[in-house]
Parts: sequence; C-alpha cells; structure tokens
Amino acid sequence: MMIRKHLSNIPGWRTKRKLIVFESDDWGSIRTRSKWDYTQMVNKGLNVDKSNFTKFDCLESNDDLERLFNVLTSYTDIKGNHPVFTPMCVVANPDFVKITDCNFDEYHYEPFTETCNKYPNHNNVINLWRKGIKENLFVPEFHGREHLNSLRWIRSLQQSNKGVLLSFNHGSIGGSEIYGEKIPQYLAAFDPEFFEDIEKFKDVLISGANLFNSLLGYFPRHFVASNKPEPKVLEETLHAIGIKSLIRYKFQVYPNGDGTTSKEMNWLGKRNSLGQLILTRNCGFEPSDPSLSDWNASCMDEISTAFFWSKPAVISTHRVNYVGCLDQANADSGLKAIDGLLNSILKRWPDAEFITSTRLSEIISNNK
Ligand SMILES: [Zn+2]
Repeated sequence: MMIRKHLSNIPGWRTKRKLIVFESDDWGSIRTRSKWDYTQMVNKGLNVDKSNFTKFDCLESNDDLERLFNVLTSYTDIKGNHPVFTPMCVVANPDFVKITDCNFDEYHYEPFTETCNKYPNHNNVINLWRKGIKENLFVPEFHGREHLNSLRWIRSLQQSNKGVLLSFNHGSIGGSEIYGEKIPQYLAAFDPEFFEDIEKFKDVLISGANLFNSLLGYFPRHFVASNKPEPKVLEETLHAIGIKSLIRYKFQVYPNGDGTTSKEMNWLGKRNSLGQLILTRNCGFEPSDPSLSDWNASCMDEISTAFFWSKPAVISTHRVNYVGCLDQANADSGLKAIDGLLNSILKRWPDAEFITSTRLSEIISNNK
C-alpha cells in the first residue's frame, strides 16, 4: 500500500513548493432531495441507506456554503491566501415536471439556479458561488452539465424500471438496488451505452459550458467527468469549449462506445495531443465515508508522500462531506474534519500554499 503510493508519485512534474489543491466534485447537482424523500425511498426498498452519497448528499444550501467559507477564511497561508476549494460543478439538473409532462418521451433540464428556487434554503447559493469566486475561496470548474447520463436515464424510465422510477418520483438520483435487485446506473454522464451517444455528449458539453459561462461569467478551464471516464474523442470538444486541463487516473480506461475500451498511462504535467495538461489526484479526504476511521491521519500521510517526491498535493474531497440538508450531523462532522486537516497542514508545513487547480495548471505551464 505505502509502496504503491510512493511509486504513483514518482513520474511527472516536480516542484519544491508545498502546493495544496482541494478538488471537490458534485456541487450544483441534486442527489437525494430531502430527508423525507430519503425515508420514503428506504421504506419502498431502494438501498439509498447503503451509500454515504445517497444517505447524506444533497444540493448544497445557503448555510452549507456559508459555514464552509467560514472555515476556509479562518486560515491563511504563508502568502496571505485562504485555503481555496476548486468545486467541480454541474450547472443544470433534470426538469422533473417537463419530463413527466411529456411522459418520458424526452429529457429536459433546468439551470441549477432554478432547482435552487425549488429547495427550502437555497435562494442565495448562486450568489455565494459568485462571492466564493471573488474572494478566491470557491472557484468553480466543470463536472459536466448535469450529474447524470440523460440518455441512459430516460431509457430506463421509458422501460419503467422500478428503482429508477422510484427515485425519479422522489426528485432524486442514485440508488443501486431495489429489494436486492440491481438497477441500471446512470450517474456517469459521459459513459456511452451506444456509439451514437457520443455525438449527443458533445452537445451536452457545449450547452453546459455556455450555461456555466452565462451564470458565472467565464468558461470553465478544468474538467473531470462524473463517476466514469468519458470517451477519449471528447477531448476535442472539451478543447473547443476552452478546457485547458483534465483530471485523469494514472491508468485510465476510456470507453469507445462500442463495448471496447482504450487504455492510457497518465502523469501529472503530461500533455495530450491537443496540448491539454493532465492533472492527477494523489490524496483523498472523504470524512463522510465510514470505511476509514482516521481521515486526517491518512490524508496527512498522502500529502507527506506527495511532498517527499516534490509533488503538489491534489486532494479529492466530495461535496457530500460538507452538506447537511439530510443530516445536519454530517455537515457538522465534515466541517470539523476539514478544519482539523487545515490546522494539521499549516502546523506541519508552515510554508504550504493553497491554490486552485487552474492556478496549478498555470504554474506547471509557466515552469517546465
Ligand atoms: Zn461527481
């Protein structure tokens, strides 16, 4: 385990600076709509109680963002900057009413700001995103238009799949089994079921980037796909919408859309044929995931390994850790955990610098 973590840090770009990046997936997306919906779905046999995502993850509220910003602003690094999140955002969600009205004939989406208007404590979320950008606390990049594959999802709804229909009726996405029976998966937005799906993904990326720009005033520069890698050919569309850097696994398997896959080795600082920079994540901090008891210790170990090999620490930490609409105690403990981690980092490395993923890409590009 330790040897593998060391080996994975060896190839690629190096720096003597103690750079820390927090990449946080899923902001802007719905998941489980409310505690009431959660309880209903559990009672009707959907296993949403079996994953910390379906149990705790929910569209972030005004309070969730304000409380996260309060933690971030209570620390300052050696350059005078606060810790900063790079939230990997989606900017739209399904329009459940329109999809119901057309009898699942076709997919409809709405800007996530309209979803916020339907939620109880979310009217200020977009303004808090904008404040986060202005104060360099929370600088959104791109996780897709919505956090689901609308083609796969609509097909399952048209086939009246019981599990998919149940979460649809509760304005939610996710769940993997109903009464022990597996249900089709659709959260990986760019995982093609058929070769023809890939063409439609291009429209999703383009319309998503345009919506991102109209909400936030800039086109996204950095991208990671939701749940599973996208077909490699989509790099051209990502390049066309202005994406300059991509998150990749060190060993990445790309779906080709015809059931076959292609494989590739990646490393920090590699460039693809279009000149896009490859970033890799080398640390994880997921305190709402009960499979590890001491996330602080394990993340500190991973950061220390990264620094030992003169690498930046790119920490994956999903939104689920910081939201409280389903269970306030989840947000309380996640915020306490990130507070503890920031404290540990600055104590151990007083020269640590907190930067965004985009800033990291710029630093790598300017300093070969
Ligand atoms: Zn995600």
